[in-house]
Amino acid sequence: MKIDIVTIFPDFFRGPLDHGIIRRAREAGLATIEVHDLRAFAHDRHKTVDDRPFGGGEGMVLKPEPIFECIEGLKVAPREGRIESRESVVLLSAQGKRFDQSVANELAALERIVLICGRYEGVDERVGQYLADRELSIGDYVLSGGELGAAVIVDCVTRLIPGAVGNQASTQQESFTTFSPTHAGDGPSSTCASGGLLDYPHYTRPADFRGITVPEVLASGNHEEIRRWRRRTALEKTLRNRPDLLNQVVLSDEDKKLLGGF
Ligand code: SAM
Repeated sequence: MKIDIVTIFPDFFRGPLDHGIIRRAREAGLATIEVHDLRAFAHDRHKTVDDRPFGGGEGMVLKPEPIFECIEGLKVAPREGRIESRESVVLLSAQGKRFDQSVANELAALERIVLICGRYEGVDERVGQYLADRELSIGDYVLSGGELGAAVIVDCVTRLIPGAVGNQASTQQESFTTFSPTHAGDGPSSTCASGGLLDYPHYTRPADFRGITVPEVLASGNHEEIRRWRRRTALEKTLRNRPDLLNQVVLSDEDKKLLGGF
């Protein structure tokens, strides 16, 4: 996968792209990530990329010319050909569609994504209308720039590229992932895909930490008991922290029975 990031702060990405899974994926050639300095596409002496808003009002707006020029230089397919070329140009925006695990899966299946980071009061609307094919928001809050959002998307998408995570099955069993557990192989962990719920609780050694012990069932070796415990605790946690998710997943009869107990 090729990922291009367009920003006025290229140095921002030094940290996020140089650690853990992203770094390994880059080193293994699974992901090529390039950061482009938007100011390189400004032609005046001061490298101006922003201007005052038409109609008046607060702040500055990122100008369209440098962004169009930068993206055109990247030789991305025109908007109408991007499904075929398996590319997407994304504008980071608080006004965008919410980025979630299903959008991450969609992006991970592409060959190339371009992420445009806004700043100031935002980006000239023509970028969203004519250049980007989608606007994505990483949550219902306003950041001062799109860079953190781009880093979130790169992280989330990169770990879904086959081979990026040591045990790929684990990415299919996590919170929000609507995945059929039948793909995951045998054993208790692989039968506990979240199916769109939050993940179940995890524990590791020591079994007794300051008198707080790990649930006995996890050491029982009884795969069926472990599976039921994980499903029950995943349901419990989802009900407590994200009840909205329960309306979006298909619950089995067993799930409904377990939920009835809370
Ligand atoms: N005036 C805009 C509004 O009210 O929607 C906010 C602009 S914000 C200060 C500057 C830039 O940060 C945006 O152009 C966008 O690129 C980025 N940004 C802010 N919040 C974001 C979010 N929730 N998700 C993704 N990007 C965001």
